[in-house]
Amino acid sequence: MSEKIFIGVAWPYANGSLHLGQIAGANLPADIFARYHRLKGNDVLMVSGSDQHGTPTTIKAEQEGKTPQEIADYYQREFLECWEKLGISFDLYTTTGTENHTEVAQDIALRLLEKGYLYKNTVSQAYCPQCQRFLPDRYIEGTCPHCNSVNARGDQCEACGKMLDAPELIEARCRLCGTPPKYKDSEQFFFKLPAFRDRILDWVKTKTSWRANVLNFTTRYLEDGLIDRAFTRDIDWGVSMPVEGYENKRIYVWFEAVIGYLSASKQWAKEIAGDAEKWRPFWEDGVKSYYFIGKDNIVFHTIIWPAMLMGYEGLALPYNVPANEFLTIEGNKISTSRNWAVWLPDYLERYDPDPLRYILSINMPETSDTDFSWREFVRRNNDELVAAYGNLVNRVLTFVYRNFDGKVPEHGELDEADKYLMNNIDSSLEKAGEYISKCNFKQAITSTMAAAREVNRYLDEKSPWKVIKEDRQAAAGSLYVALYAISCLKTAFYPFLPFSSQKVHEYLGFDGKVEEHGWESHPPEPGQKLREPKPLFTKLDESIIQEETSRIGT
Ligand SMILES: [Zn+2]
Ligand SMILES: [Zn+2]
Repeated sequence: MSEKIFIGVAWPYANGSLHLGQIAGANLPADIFARYHRLKGNDVLMVSGSDQHGTPTTIKAEQEGKTPQEIADYYQREFLECWEKLGISFDLYTTTGTENHTEVAQDIALRLLEKGYLYKNTVSQAYCPQCQRFLPDRYIEGTCPHCNSVNARGDQCEACGKMLDAPELIEARCRLCGTPPKYKDSEQFFFKLPAFRDRILDWVKTKTSWRANVLNFTTRYLEDGLIDRAFTRDIDWGVSMPVEGYENKRIYVWFEAVIGYLSASKQWAKEIAGDAEKWRPFWEDGVKSYYFIGKDNIVFHTIIWPAMLMGYEGLALPYNVPANEFLTIEGNKISTSRNWAVWLPDYLERYDPDPLRYILSINMPETSDTDFSWREFVRRNNDELVAAYGNLVNRVLTFVYRNFDGKVPEHGELDEADKYLMNNIDSSLEKAGEYISKCNFKQAITSTMAAAREVNRYLDEKSPWKVIKEDRQAAAGSLYVALYAISCLKTAFYPFLPFSSQKVHEYLGFDGKVEEHGWESHPPEPGQKLREPKPLFTKLDESIIQEETSRIGT
């Protein structure tokens, strides 16, 4: 029986190019998971989009002398191109700038208001006397009251991950000019977050399969107690609060962006699935909803969004939130402002997508921070992708193609070693599937690579390239077994390396897409016509290490 799998992926701000941290943190694990479940025959809906609203985009627009919409449109195009090239297979990648999103966000706001979860209150709003303007939260910086980090922003402390309100900051200052802000009264809507605390705590206690970092962070947060949170802001870029007299208030972007998961599902149903009601099975009982995000976003997906969903009623809560830790670059924390990052468009301009998908998977920051370095990238590409897996595929396919008339050879009686390898390969596929279904992506790809090495050892022992001279039938048998294994490896690698798996699929003589053949051993038929193989991966020269590292941080 097929399952309904909803996959929500973190919404990047439309204010700058994507970098490897975002890919390792959210997009790649989500895509691996989606591809696996599609192969399993499950119904998958994977959505995300660009977060256009909020001050990250207005700050960028001010810096560049453009409108926020121009900035948002520019990055939306760039993001779409990146997903295509990297093979991130969204069912829909939209933006928060659609009319549909506004409608869905306003519907949620009105329902929460009706149910008494939103109320009006007067608060003091930061104002910079030097710049003579109201300051949105991100325009204020200061010391975090929780962890004393000195560079906390008015909406969140990046160091400890806690949500903040600007007035809580110690020694607050205007981000633009450094002046301490003054506060002026303004009426806003507030969300009664504490009303959901006990229910969320009970719900989280049932989530024993969640990652320890997510579970611990969420439980601690709830145990510290929740406070009412401002639901609206005085800015002019965002979704209007749909209440008479308050149209100039905008729904605070943290609340508005998470609604994107639902609005994108509705947009997908209308525009792509061709049935406006098709989103429902992905939001009702029986669905498993996974949210792939970085650890800085945990609170919004395990507390804020579930509270909003509980308040709204009738929509499925997250099933799992497998948040990743951070990826560092060459030993240092990513900093987009200091250009300490590897930018995805730059990478994709110079290299193939699969090697990046490989290194970010086998080194995924699942339970602790991991590091990306160009030295390690070149080493793993050359020693693992090229030497272990790529060469296996290439030497077997090329040899068979040349010596067996371009066809999968007939095998005679299979011996113990043959059967042992075939069994082993079958069970390695099964094992990889189990790991992926538990969001243990690193283990899945590590065990698949180990299986590829085992095929190499089998071939070293059988050495059909020599045996063929005396015993063509014996050579045909072991080459058949190797082709059987390669076809199985192609499926196991597919969620991680979709481009090269598709190539292997075609070299083996199959038509159509890998995805059509299911998550199971998929042996080629003896006599099946092969296509002429080419090398799967390219060996990289060590000189690129120096070349690439010198671009970072300058
Ligand atoms: Zn802090
Ligand atoms: Zn100022």
